[in-house]
Amino acid sequence: MRAERTDVATRLEAVRARIRAAEERFGRVPGSVTLLAVSKKQDTGKIRAAIASGQKAFGESYLQEAVEKMDALETLGARWHFIGRIQGNKTRQIAERFDWVHSLCSLKHARRLSEQRPAGRPPLAVCVQVNLDAEPGKAGLALGEVSDFIAACAGLPGLSLVGLMTLPAPAEGLEAQRRPFRELRRMRDLLATPERPLEVLSIGMSADLEAAIAEGATLVRVGTAIFGPREG
Ligand SMILES: *Cc1c(COP(=O)(O)O)cnc(C)c1O
Repeated sequence: MRAERTDVATRLEAVRARIRAAEERFGRVPGSVTLLAVSKKQDTGKIRAAIASGQKAFGESYLQEAVEKMDALETLGARWHFIGRIQGNKTRQIAERFDWVHSLCSLKHARRLSEQRPAGRPPLAVCVQVNLDAEPGKAGLALGEVSDFIAACAGLPGLSLVGLMTLPAPAEGLEAQRRPFRELRRMRDLLATPERPLEVLSIGMSADLEAAIAEGATLVRVGTAIFGPREG
């Protein structure tokens, strides 16, 4: 347990240093990139260690697993972001338990999440997931569908559409990694309006967070670089 704590604390500090270095290298405002710690398939001991080291936001992909962790860690003040595939019959728990959803790509799910968001809570912050490579079987809208989708979500009171998210196919090297992120940022710049600035770009993971920060990431989703390899 003690070793686990130091491990997570050390890795977390290394990831923060990578983010600071990339902000500086690519001329970003210091502190403008938020770190989301992706804790899917990681045990609660590691999440506790991250919280003890000042980490506040955690990303989960599997609803049942996420809810169990939330219950176990209830008093510690973590914020929870859903980043996995949304199942239509499970939107209620997402609407009730999470602060953010990064993986919205269905209008039906958008309507349900909005309806099911509890009245006393702020609107659920959502990013639209975009599938840039049009990889079959992968979640996300095609680039050409994003504009209509955003317009259709505009009137949903339980949602606050804050930006775009993508999960590109793995690529080697900074330039290749930057390409899809640049494409997403350009789409965001085209769609942004004063009323809906779409300021969030949820891009970048353990292997490509520098490329994402170079292209304007406001939030990076980092799992293994903080917690080590996932179980199962
Ligand atoms: C698992 C996952 C991550 C984290 O990936 P790492 O390579 O472990 O940093 C980020 N985003 C999404 C959507 C994921 O499913």
